[in-house]
Amino acid sequence: MRIGIGYDSHRLVEGRRLILGGIDIPFEKGLLGHSDGDVLCHAIIDAIIGAMGAGDIGKHFPDTDNRWKDASSIMLLRHIVDLVKSKGLEIVWIDSIIITEKPKITPYIESMKDTISQAGISPAIINIKAKTNEAMGFVGREEGIAAQAVCLLKEIRS
Ligand code: MG
Repeated sequence: MRIGIGYDSHRLVEGRRLILGGIDIPFEKGLLGHSDGDVLCHAIIDAIIGAMGAGDIGKHFPDTDNRWKDASSIMLLRHIVDLVKSKGLEIVWIDSIIITEKPKITPYIESMKDTISQAGISPAIINIKAKTNEAMGFVGREEGIAAQAVCLLKEIRS
């Protein structure tokens, strides 16, 4: 068994879509980023990469590489899930937290899990939680959204 941790945050700005867990959430602001700014997917990706012992998200998807400009983070996640399989590993469990003051995330969690399944992660092995930051810090001031994730991988006997 191997465990990995992931964290990400992006700035909330006007004129961007808000995409979390691969789905479009109606809101007056969206997350700024080289890709779609999907903090949940990025935290999950980093947790998986950490459990693989394969560096970090910036190493796999550098923001200097135009292949990943405005990329769907579900596609990036798919790429990393394929890498897990190619290394003879299997995802056992992912737990995650989205930390945001607004909008309310809970109504979207099931559809996030459905969308993340397109990256090859079954809804049966992922948990997504949502919290506010009790009006404290950058999340509390609604300047940005953060996410955390952990991933458990196991080595498959061949
Ligand atoms: Mg990010």
